[in-house]
Parts: sequence; structure tokens; C-alpha cells
Amino acid sequence: MNALSIRNLRKTYNNGFEALKGINLDVDEGDFFALLGPNGAGKSTAIGIISSLINESSGSVSIFGYDLKTDRSRAKSCLGLVPQEVNFNQFDTVKSILFNQAGYYGTPRKLALQRTEHCLKQMDLWDKRDTVSRRLSGGMKRRVMIARAMVHAPRLLILDEPTAGVDIEIRRAMWKMMQEVNEQGTTIILTTHYLEEAESLCRNIAIIDQGLIVENSDMTSLLARLHVDHFVLDLAEPLAEVPSIPGYQLERATDKALNVAVPKETGLNQLFSQLSALNIKVISLKNKSNRLEQLFMDLIESKSSGVKQ
Ligand code: ADP
Repeated sequence: MNALSIRNLRKTYNNGFEALKGINLDVDEGDFFALLGPNGAGKSTAIGIISSLINESSGSVSIFGYDLKTDRSRAKSCLGLVPQEVNFNQFDTVKSILFNQAGYYGTPRKLALQRTEHCLKQMDLWDKRDTVSRRLSGGMKRRVMIARAMVHAPRLLILDEPTAGVDIEIRRAMWKMMQEVNEQGTTIILTTHYLEEAESLCRNIAIIDQGLIVENSDMTSLLARLHVDHFVLDLAEPLAEVPSIPGYQLERATDKALNVAVPKETGLNQLFSQLSALNIKVISLKNKSNRLEQLFMDLIESKSSGVKQ
């Protein structure tokens, strides 16, 4: 059974901008799924449509088999959304934020109290249940957002950059909590800017760019493609011709700089000795960009160069 199924989903905003150009996506029940993409790619638009906050222009979405158009309330009851912005009433206590949300979903009082306790314990917030939420730290507020999204026991949880801006220690603690939620049977879709986060949590991944899915595969095979480092070499003298060195991919960056792709298992030694044999003097070397940026660039460049507009 698919937790989420998206078919030919398009969104054109009122100003004529095509934010989604016909995307297809399936997420299996039980999966921990990453939806990645550069800013402006269309992630929030897609999440907005899935969570009924934005109307699609065409196409369909179903959540656990319930079509969002024809079976909206059942589809919605299967879904919990953790948006980027903290949007609960900061003057409410932690406990009442969850309890009220359960009420919004029509959960009977006794069950609502049980679910509130369960979710607060799961997010390590039970001690804070009577605290007015504006007194909480940033990391705790984010955990309240997650606990609130889980209070009606949704089968699918969508987390939109849940750890943006929190420090690495808190982020790791949150990863553990999300992993536990997933292990207990909840399907999770995560958007994030931290590749490390997607890498350690998610089994499958889709990358969206300019309103199109440019990659949809399992994490292991995607990461296998990242086993190349990219560097920029600054040279002492302008280069007449880009040399060809077996095992490395070199290209001109400027007259006095080369871009080089280095397979991790190859290392740099061979490159330097070959360059030196050719009398090419390297002044400095820098890593071209972080892995996530590189991943996006590689994928997006290779896709767009294959598609003639
Ligand atoms: P992401 O979440 O991946 O950063 P968004 O879904 O927010 O991307 O945006 C996708 C594109 O749609 C962007 O170019 C953005 O400027 C545009 N967009 C988003 N919301 C609107 C809107 N209400 N009206 C017009 N354009 C919009």
C-alpha cells in the first residue's frame, strides 16, 4: 500500500508561474522518505497541496488510498504536518496545545489525554507539559510542533525542515526521536537542507528542481554517485591547454584555475605528481562546495544538458 501517491501534479500560480510541472511520486507505507531540492524548487507547493493548504491546478494526490479530492476528510485524518514556522499559540501550555489539536480532529477526551501524554513522552517533553510554550527553547518548540502533528495518530507524517537552525546536538536527539516514530510504524516524509540528515535517516529520496522530479531512488545508490570530490586548483601560470591525466576529470575554470573531479579511492597524490611532471605549478587547492550543493548541481546539470529546450 502506498502512503502517498501523486500523479501528474501541476500547479500554476495566479501570476502564471508554473511551480509544479507534472510530478509523479510514490511513497511506500513505513518508508522514511526525503524530499530535497534547492530553494524555489517547488517543495512547499507540493507539501501545501498534499496537506490541502494549496489547491492544485491539475493531477491527483491520494493518501493511503484516499483521494484528496473525493475523500478529503479521510485523507486528511491520515496526515500530520509539521510546517517550517512555529505556529502554535505561544501563550498556551504545551499540554493544551496537543489536547486542543486532538479535539480539532474529533478525538474523544479520554483518548485525547492518552495521546497527549504518549506524544509528549515520545518527544521528551512530558516534564514541560505545564510550561507556557513561549518559555521553551527553540529546539523544544520544534518538538512541540512534531508532538502536535502526531496527536491524532496520523499514519503519514510530513516534516518540513524540522531541524532548521537547531544546533547539532539537538538535531541528533531529534533524529533519534523521528527514527523511533518511524520504527513504530509511521511513514515519514522529510524535507531538509542537511544532506547528513537525509543520509542518516531516509531510505528513499526524491529531488525536485524547477517543478520537476529530477531524481527518485534509494539513498544507497544515490550516495554511491557522490564518491567523487570536486576541487578548484589555482595555478601559478596561465594554462595554454587543459592537460589530460588518466583517472581525473579536469576542466578549465579560468585561465589560471582548473576544476578537477577526484574519485575518493584515487586521492590527490597522483594528480599532483602528474601536474608537476607537466611543469604545472599549483598554488592552492580548495574544495568546490559541500556535498548537498554538489549533488544538486551534478544532478540538475546532467538532467538539463540532456533535455534540449
Ligand atoms: P521551495 O519550497 O522548494 O523553496 P516553493 O514551492 O515555495 O519552493 O516555490 C516554488 C516556486 O513557486 C518559486 O519560484 C516561488 O517563487 C513560486 N511561488 C510560490 N508561491 C507562490 C505564489 N503564491 N504565487 C506565485 N509564485 C509562487
